[in-house]
Amino acid sequence: MKVHAIQTGTVEIKKNQMIGRGPKALRLVNVLLGTKWVEPVPIYAWVIEHKEGVIVVDTGDTARTSEPGYFPRWQPYYKFAVRFHVKPEQEIGVQLKKMGIGPKDVKKVILTHMHTDHAGGLYHFPESQVYVNIPEYKRTLGFQGQLNGYVPHRMPAWLSPNAIVFDNEGFGPFRKFWNVTSNGDVKVVATEGHTPAHISVISTIEDVHYFLAGDTSYSEETLLRKITDGVSPDPNQALETMRNILSFASQYPTVYLPSHDPKSEMRLKNKIALSIH
Ligand SMILES: [Zn+2]
Repeated sequence: MKVHAIQTGTVEIKKNQMIGRGPKALRLVNVLLGTKWVEPVPIYAWVIEHKEGVIVVDTGDTARTSEPGYFPRWQPYYKFAVRFHVKPEQEIGVQLKKMGIGPKDVKKVILTHMHTDHAGGLYHFPESQVYVNIPEYKRTLGFQGQLNGYVPHRMPAWLSPNAIVFDNEGFGPFRKFWNVTSNGDVKVVATEGHTPAHISVISTIEDVHYFLAGDTSYSEETLLRKITDGVSPDPNQALETMRNILSFASQYPTVYLPSHDPKSEMRLKNKIALSIH
């Protein structure tokens, strides 16, 4: 088994999104009105080459985000608070092809959550079984989904996700998990916060746990400093998840790989585990 990082372009967000500011009710307003931007951060997706078939974790984004009208024009977040930079050749399907991996080779696609920079590349995988935590999927649907910051009208028409069923109990601090593979070397755990039904994938190779963390934090640094982002609907839930991850990493060697940390790819390559003092 091997885990690869695929970078599908970059995204610019506000400083107030990276580092949530103010009371819960005002955090999103502070993101929208904030004037400071952070340096562009990568948009990573992950590819697990496994003997049971390729597993893709998140799909990165699509170059179509730069087409006028791709996002609902009335949604202030896209207008004022985010800038995507994705070129067609950076999309995941193109990059997988270069690695010799075609759509039929990808058995499973697992989404940590369905924000566009994680689900935008889904259309490359019409042959795969797509797994989403169903409460997350339901949160994306219809007008309410657009209000919640998703783009349900841009998801592939064939999309009918399989439920992630947490049918096992107790993996370190995580109460429930799902064994993705038959020997359990790939697992899904619940990591609520950034979205209420956000999940993470843990891929274990020779006792090292590669923690494909989605947006549980934007970087290892913000995890260690327990800084919640500015868009989590419930910052306390996000904080509890961060504590769980830190506790997990104190029990098991863990390479922490959030989707937007510029250092994630380097940590993956060099197997640099989270060190907790
Ligand atoms: Zn997100």
